[in-house]
Amino acid sequence: MSSSDTIQTNTHNSLRRLYPGTRLESSFTWPVENLDDLDSSFGVHEYIQQTIRMDKSNVQHIVDLPESVDRQVWQFEHLRQVCLELSLLVVALEPECTMENCPEMKADGWLYLCAAHPSTQSCPAIDYIIHTLDGAAMLLNNSKYFPSRISIPEPSLKHFQSIARRLYRVFAHAYFHHREIYQSFENETYLYARFLLLSQTYNLIPPSLVTIPDERSNGNDMGDRDEYRRNPPKQQQENNNDTDTETVVSANGD
Ligand SMILES: [Zn+2]
Ligand SMILES: [Zn+2]
Repeated sequence: MSSSDTIQTNTHNSLRRLYPGTRLESSFTWPVENLDDLDSSFGVHEYIQQTIRMDKSNVQHIVDLPESVDRQVWQFEHLRQVCLELSLLVVALEPECTMENCPEMKADGWLYLCAAHPSTQSCPAIDYIIHTLDGAAMLLNNSKYFPSRISIPEPSLKHFQSIARRLYRVFAHAYFHHREIYQSFENETYLYARFLLLSQTYNLIPPSLVTIPDERSNGNDMGDRDEYRRNPPKQQQENNNDTDTETVVSANGD
């Protein structure tokens, strides 16, 4: 047996790095650490990523606020993580969510205009999604609003809601227009389940905006495929308490 075949394990040191060429199955094999042991200001984010790796499907555990963590910092780090993972959904959507198939950003009967431009405009769905994720990441990385990762200034808290509302639309577009891609992504990541639980726990999204049906509760996901909508809530006014200049337009049919 050649010794070059042995997988090197790093259980003795605490280097938490992935080296180029590391096989997936031998990645992330470092020992699980307690939140208190994760030093550096990046501790909370690392902790979240660690609980996700342990069991993605246990969204309750992933979202549960650890005693020693500030609630606002917790939401902040979770939103950053959702943005990171949503970029993988974009990759999955790209072959199908094209300019031709989805020339506008729609979800569940609503048409959304993109706020990432000097004046709001209609963008093809995939562009809207990319612009939205870029905008959210830029905002969360903006040291003017989020100068530290230890505490969040009160006036910046409102951004969590506007970010969450926009991220919700990305899931909704995938669900209502690219169901197979959505489903296989969700089966693998449980990202929507986690995001929804986070949003509900911290009131980031009003219940009226939650349009993706809870399929786990009726156990019959293929039931009324085409009946899931056509009854959009009345005008969903955005709270214009920030720079949120986007427009939501009711669309008749698609
Ligand atoms: Zn699309
Ligand atoms: Zn745009």
